[in-house]
Amino acid sequence: GKNLEISHLVKQYANADRPVLDDITLTVPAGKVTVVLGPSGSGKSTLLRTVAGLEPIQGGEIALDGEVIASGKSGNAKSGRQQRSSDLRTRVGMVFQSYDLFPNKTVLGNITLAPTIVQKRPKADAEREALELLGRVGLADRKDAWPHELSGGQRQRVAICRALILHPEIMLFDEVTAALDPEMVREVLDVIVELADQGLTMMIVTHEMAFARAIADRIVLLDGGHIVEQSDDAERFFTD
Ligand code: ADP
Ligand code: ADP
Repeated sequence: GKNLEISHLVKQYANADRPVLDDITLTVPAGKVTVVLGPSGSGKSTLLRTVAGLEPIQGGEIALDGEVIASGKSGNAKSGRQQRSSDLRTRVGMVFQSYDLFPNKTVLGNITLAPTIVQKRPKADAEREALELLGRVGLADRKDAWPHELSGGQRQRVAICRALILHPEIMLFDEVTAALDPEMVREVLDVIVELADQGLTMMIVTHEMAFARAIADRIVLLDGGHIVEQSDDAERFFTD
């Protein structure tokens, strides 16, 4: 994984009278899990979306190991939704709360689509890796299933595989367990914990306090578009 450096980030939606993110400075260290907490509407989702290149920014910079991937200058030039560059699509993996699998593709087809189309990898090669990833998340036997045949937890695990096959430098998770039954939450959390153990840089928005406490190396508390607290000692954050 790489270090994600956010400096003086300002994000304001076109129809809003004030920024939703106001002067956010934050480092997400390589190989660590940073959990972003905060009340609904505090800007957590927006923060992830700016890092993923899904929203232009109006001020500041976002960099991966010193390389600028978004800046307020380019964000100003464009209005509305920015096209996510294929470069960022492979470098920054993102999994959303609502499973966004392609309904007319099988599990294997969903996972191999981006590597074959965007990266022009040979299909057999992409399929081999997809099967390996499905094995890791306990879904090898579901490779030919259609999304509607899967449970919510299974769909989220497929969505994680779909991001991982592009070998992202950082993974972003936006409330990926929010729409799941408790037993499915466990399946998805187990996969995320395993990725953390392997040292992938991750930034996670969650309301699951027990999960945050179990997985976080670093906690960032967001409120009203500002960082109100940062802690490198997650255990202490939760016990204080
Ligand atoms: P959180 O993830 O913490 O709930 P969000 O980032 O989703 O917060 O939203 C922060 C604020 O920005 C909210 O007031 C929300 O209504 C607003 N917002 C989110 N997305 C948009 C958008 N596309 N256009 C305008 N306002 C938005
Ligand atoms: P989350 O908190 O996970 O972002 P929301 O329900 O706030 O979930 O947002 C869902 C979608 O609606 C997002 O794509 C967000 O950008 C959009 N959205 C949220 N608030 C607004 C708003 N005030 N105006 C326009 N779009 C919004």
